[in-house]
Amino acid sequence: MKVLVINAGSSSLKYQLLDTESQAVLAKGLCERIGIDGKFTYKAPGKETIDAKDVAMPTHSEAIQAVLDALVDPANGVVSSMKEIEAVGHRVVHGGETFASSVKIDDKVMAALEECIPLAPLHNPANITGIKACTKVMGPDVPQVAVFDTAFHQTMPPVAYTYALPYEYYEKDKVRRYGFHGTSHKYVTQRAADMLGKPIESLRLISCHLGNGSSIAAVAYGKSVDTSMGFTPLAGLPMGTRAGDLDAGILEFLMNKYGMDIKEMLNVLNKKSGVQGVSGVSSDFRDLGSAAEQGNTRAALALDMFSYGVKKYIGAYAAAMGGVDAIIFTAGVGENDAQQRMNIASGLEFMGVKMDADANNVRGKEAIISAIDSKVKVLLIPTNEELMIALDTAALA
Ligand code: AMP
Repeated sequence: MKVLVINAGSSSLKYQLLDTESQAVLAKGLCERIGIDGKFTYKAPGKETIDAKDVAMPTHSEAIQAVLDALVDPANGVVSSMKEIEAVGHRVVHGGETFASSVKIDDKVMAALEECIPLAPLHNPANITGIKACTKVMGPDVPQVAVFDTAFHQTMPPVAYTYALPYEYYEKDKVRRYGFHGTSHKYVTQRAADMLGKPIESLRLISCHLGNGSSIAAVAYGKSVDTSMGFTPLAGLPMGTRAGDLDAGILEFLMNKYGMDIKEMLNVLNKKSGVQGVSGVSSDFRDLGSAAEQGNTRAALALDMFSYGVKKYIGAYAAAMGGVDAIIFTAGVGENDAQQRMNIASGLEFMGVKMDADANNVRGKEAIISAIDSKVKVLLIPTNEELMIALDTAALA
């Protein structure tokens, strides 16, 4: 089935057209600066690449139309008519407690998505706009499916998702750990079971999604049982620019000292912290690696804090699951940064992790990077959220 995968942001829209049988990406690209001065990119194997500026895109509807026009273009397109696109899969950030799996979109689902807006006020409205734009441009008969970042983690038990706050904030206001990157954690854990040739129901896995945003998930016997992000993606590890977990008392101290309101404080925590904040150099691990090599001690500290943070989560989640069979590295840092992987996994020999330095010298492809006699396998698995969304969409459409 040919599935169009859409990831709509407030002024952007990422798309991929995938064939779910061959798992091939037929075309992909990005609409940016929607409502401003419209940028459009399109790439398809063997076709001319489009990189256009000043494309009229006052709303997401024109952006979707531009995508469809490119896909059916007689010279450059990859399908002969829109009818070949049998379904659309949307990445939706927050499904709250309502959605524990992907769902085919109808009026009831749209109403439930609207109800989830308070939980992700920056992201869900854009996702809803993307769905409405597809309905408008493609018509109501093309099935659309919502795939949630939070859904995979809905299997967490109360002991993992409840915050130690007055319980009414959970009951009345739904304040709890939700977790994110669920589509990625689901994809890589399924691939891990395939690579190990064992049913996922027999495995305890720790999935480390380490990118600009990072999260770790404990996946016991196919189900997420804990994860490091929380009510929002600000929790857990120090990230590119996000602080991760910290003492909430620091907020009051800094807000009083510098006269910041909560918006300014959150801007610091989301955009100016993490490895960027500690190093003062960059949020990009490549830049930090070069700076550390040249003797920048704060860049080295930021890198060490990151690997130390991941290591602590691995220990915690192995304890939570009563053991671990495999650890998975994925996303930008996890897939490309052999040094980080080595720093994280070294020192874990006590729990049966033994890395193979040669096998670890690999980037961006599936590989077993632990030693043959390592009790706990360590795997590198490039994530593929778009494929996961397309497969879920094909199954439900
Ligand atoms: P993501 O959010 O998954 O796209 O990951 C993006 C991040 O991956 C970048 O900000 C870099 O920090 C990191 N990254 C990408 N390539 C490399 C590399 N070759 N070595 C180290 N880090 C990398």
